[in-house]
Amino acid sequence: MDDIVIDTAGFIHWPHDRLRGCIISVLQLPEIEKHAPNNFVLLDQLDVRVKSPEPDSLDAVLRMASTTGDLGGLSKVDLEVLALGHQMDCEIATDDHRMQNVASANGINWMPVSGAGISKTWLWRYICQGCKKEWSKGQGILDGGVCDVCGSDVRLLKK
Ligand SMILES: [Zn+2]
Repeated sequence: MDDIVIDTAGFIHWPHDRLRGCIISVLQLPEIEKHAPNNFVLLDQLDVRVKSPEPDSLDAVLRMASTTGDLGGLSKVDLEVLALGHQMDCEIATDDHRMQNVASANGINWMPVSGAGISKTWLWRYICQGCKKEWSKGQGILDGGVCDVCGSDVRLLKK
């Protein structure tokens, strides 16, 4: 099974076989204990891996969330889940639209826990501030990068 970071909603909605071997942030422990106490007592049995993201990874996610305008709406737990997905290069499972948005904008794969997610409603493009050339994600350009045509700054923007 591929590594996956599951946010707290997963522990409310998902069966045990989907939770087995997954990754969570240490900050989720009190949330899971409160909202999914039946699964909280099974964390060891389900081989759930409890991790803290590296400071570098957390910094990177803070910058990503600031760029997409989602930072103010994300909790420390949300940011840690994103940071774990980022540093381990694995998928995250979340229903939080802001987390999905930051993930989509930065090449972090995600899946919804229960809802359908935002993937088809928001279109993100990297756009040159000078000549307006556009790139989609995965084309090797990043927010804050430089346009290969005119050398202006490239920004990630919603279209
Ligand atoms: Zn340009």
